[in-house]
Amino acid sequence: MNADSDRAIDHSHTEPVPQEDSRGYQPRQMVLLGAGHAHLHVLQQLAASPLVGARINLVAPQPRQLYSGLLPGFVAGRYALEECVLHLEPLVRRAGIRWLTRSVRGLDAATQTVLFDDGSTLHYDWLSVNTGPVQNRSRIEETMPGAREHALFVRPMETFAALWPKVAEMGANKALRIGVIGAGAAGIELAMAVRQRLPNSAITLLSGDAPAGAAYPPKAQNLMQAALKARRITLIQDSAVGVKSGEVILQSGARLACDVPLIAIGAQAPPWLEASGLALDPQGFIAVDANQRSTSHANVFAAGDVSTRQDRPLARSGVYAVRAGPALAHNLAAVVAGQNLKVHQPPARSLNLLSCGDGRAIAIYGKLAAQGRWVWWLKDYIDRKFAGRYSDQPG
Ligand SMILES: Cc1cc2nc3c(=O)[nH]c(=O)nc-3n(C[C@H](O)[C@H](O)[C@H](O)COP(=O)(O)OP(=O)(O)OC[C@H]3O[C@@H](n4cnc5c(N)ncnc54)[C@H](O)[C@@H]3O)c2cc1C
Repeated sequence: MNADSDRAIDHSHTEPVPQEDSRGYQPRQMVLLGAGHAHLHVLQQLAASPLVGARINLVAPQPRQLYSGLLPGFVAGRYALEECVLHLEPLVRRAGIRWLTRSVRGLDAATQTVLFDDGSTLHYDWLSVNTGPVQNRSRIEETMPGAREHALFVRPMETFAALWPKVAEMGANKALRIGVIGAGAAGIELAMAVRQRLPNSAITLLSGDAPAGAAYPPKAQNLMQAALKARRITLIQDSAVGVKSGEVILQSGARLACDVPLIAIGAQAPPWLEASGLALDPQGFIAVDANQRSTSHANVFAAGDVSTRQDRPLARSGVYAVRAGPALAHNLAAVVAGQNLKVHQPPARSLNLLSCGDGRAIAIYGKLAAQGRWVWWLKDYIDRKFAGRYSDQPG
């Protein structure tokens, strides 16, 4: 790493307060919270055209970001973990901004202050939030006592990716009983990925009070359910209401013998938003307008799964988070320069690609759905291309 990059990247936990230069000039602070899909694009834009008039701070707890589109392939054993990694350091270095390797724990929109996990704070003039969804363990524990102690959570993905190889190793020596809890796209993909990796395991997919893939149109749902059955995955339409060592308790009163309960239920809003003072939607996500700007605070922007556009609620998905990047990069530069903001027009529909784990995949576009090897090739190509955009190794 050269001297310039040393100056640009700050891994320390000191000096969160803006510094005056020798002329007494105190730069205005822009804080980018999280290195989600939209912020990766913002970093690329900053490298191409630096922003004058503000000091940019990226807050991201990990030096890398795991790309979720490739994660089921990692579980299936098709990709090494390194192939699923987007390294932040080269992006931060090229963007020439300050990087704080911390996690946000609180936000006060009234005083324009972010609170970090180490107790330090940072003042901002402008804030952009792209921290993605979480699996709120406290809330999940309320509806599923024992989950915290006995279950494996898909998010944070870093933790999941560190624990999964241990499960795979156990499963190589003994036929495991695995219960995937949550049958949205991620749960369905993960169940099929586990089948590929652990052919002798008994896999059950719990879909709650609706059938597996219920958010999708009928043709796609039928394809997904047929694909699961063809891979010997037992589908149960029932909810987990408790987890104990060796079993999952179901709402019907039945008990599912289970060595590894894997929690893949829908993503929730981060709890630290609750007391932030920002306008939130009923699920607790940041309410934004057509410019991705908070509906309550004009100096706050939000993109990706942590936000909801009030006039057009969206299905949360990485595809939309990626598409949000260009408009966000424009709007952050525009707000600093006092120029007009751009309307972010999310696509009316997008192509969804679900891996079946074994070199086949399902494509869904609107009401249309298809499956085959060619869909897998397409998914593999698109996902690798996306990861490749950000795949420079650290310097
Ligand atoms: C197994 C799985 C497979 C998936 N496959 C697909 C797919 O194929 N296609 C698709 O469109 N979607 C897919 N999704 C959904 C997709 O992951 C999300 O929609 C997408 O990641 C949301 O992007 P984002 O930019 O909002 O946030 P994220 O990608 O989640 O990024 C959030 C960033 O914020 C950081 N962060 C989080 N908390 C904090 C904090 N407190 N302080 C500071 N930084 C923080 C994180 O480290 C990360 O850098 C999948 C999800 C899962 C679980």
